Amino acid sequence: MTFSAAMPGTIDNELSRHLLRADGQEDVCLATYATSTGSTRTTALVNAALLPERGERAVHGNASFTGDYFVRAAAQAASLGRGVVALHSHPGSRGWQLMSRPDHDAERSYAHLVQQVTGKPLVGMTLAGNGDWSCRVWDAVGVPTHGESVRVVGDHFRVTWNDQLRPAPKSNDRQDRTVSAWGEEIHASLARTRVLVVGAGSVGLDVGLRLAATGLIQVGVMDFDSVEIVNLDRLVGATATDVRLARSKVEVAGRLMVRAATAANPKIVELDASICDPAGLAAALDYDIVISCVDRPWPRGVLNTLAYADLIPVIDGGIGIDTFDDGTMRNATWRTHVLLPGQPCLCCNKQLDAGEIQTDKLGLLDDPAYINGADPEALPKRQNVAVLAAGVSASILAQFVSLTVTPSGFGVPGPLSYSLSTHTLDHLHFPTKKDCAFEAAVAAGDDRLVLTGEHTAARHIQAERRARQARPVTRLRRALSRGA
Ligand SMILES: [Zn+2]
Ligand SMILES: [Zn+2]
Repeated sequence: MTFSAAMPGTIDNELSRHLLRADGQEDVCLATYATSTGSTRTTALVNAALLPERGERAVHGNASFTGDYFVRAAAQAASLGRGVVALHSHPGSRGWQLMSRPDHDAERSYAHLVQQVTGKPLVGMTLAGNGDWSCRVWDAVGVPTHGESVRVVGDHFRVTWNDQLRPAPKSNDRQDRTVSAWGEEIHASLARTRVLVVGAGSVGLDVGLRLAATGLIQVGVMDFDSVEIVNLDRLVGATATDVRLARSKVEVAGRLMVRAATAANPKIVELDASICDPAGLAAALDYDIVISCVDRPWPRGVLNTLAYADLIPVIDGGIGIDTFDDGTMRNATWRTHVLLPGQPCLCCNKQLDAGEIQTDKLGLLDDPAYINGADPEALPKRQNVAVLAAGVSASILAQFVSLTVTPSGFGVPGPLSYSLSTHTLDHLHFPTKKDCAFEAAVAAGDDRLVLTGEHTAARHIQAERRARQARPVTRLRRALSRGA
């Protein structure tokens, strides 16, 4: 397992105000964290600062904690089921910080106590003078493991990378025009950001291709569906052969993304899975940003938990096409929004009805009896047009650039709505509902709202595909096409 840390922008502000002093001296403080457990990465999510009271720390050259301060913080963290983070500043430096001997000895001396009281390992963090964070986690016998990144999640998404574990890639000739748009430093950070695209339909495929072409080293794509003949009017690059050979959507997306990738050693991860299954969610928790290109309420509900509870921004978008009663086109509207602390969630921005999550989870949206009796407006729409899907993917990708590159210092714009008939772009404003359980769970990590469960419909589709692939004639065709 690799280790990382993350915090909401509000906590970053509060900690920075305390740790970066006007007099330029080092300072220390404690905080609590929750754990987010992915398949290969554990992330400590800093969720509350516990600033020192009088006499709990000394500020003189090397600032130091008192034992009483640690005992108070550990007791408080334990009562909330949280862990303890010990933080200090290096005001004169920048970038990922290593520990000095005194840093090492101070953190090590409290690691055992904290583990005893909270049952969770002590996390240490250092804040450099320019706002760069670094992190490590201590095991019970006092050995630290360095983190690979710290992300600060607000309208501006900022990551400090541990260059030893996640070295900055050298940009190459193929990326010249891209790098000249935002500079080497931003590109080196963007390239290391792991982005997962959930849903490999028309929008997801387009987004995945463009992220790979931009030079991101690791792009994941998750879908459980197979390529069918009705998909060929919008899965650009998929062929009738893919249908005949019973290929999955991720297999096709992966093949096309590898070809489009410009990173020196791209890692395109094909996840034949559903985000609704616990294993699919765990795989998603290894990523830094998720792009939601699914339209069903259940997967969108699950992504709505992760955006807040696990501090992994989710960029979601969708299109609605209206037709007149005679079947001609009235309008098309596409909306995109970034879900993260401080922005309205999918329920508050009226993209998702919490009741529909359960309806979908129970399989009712695939049940003919339910569909016949339901209000057609409440059912997922089936219209999907390749020429307009590009509008959705363009808006999603523009939101991605605002989040990560922040042109002129502007971060995410909030929910956007584009109306085709009049060609108007609206900025929508939604308040957070008072009882919103999704947004109340910021940085809750593994204590997130549980919406996952066995996704039976996904299992059926995967089993049906495997059965088709196992037919002798398909096996032979697949073997012959390998490498083609
Ligand atoms: Zn230090
Ligand atoms: Zn909400």
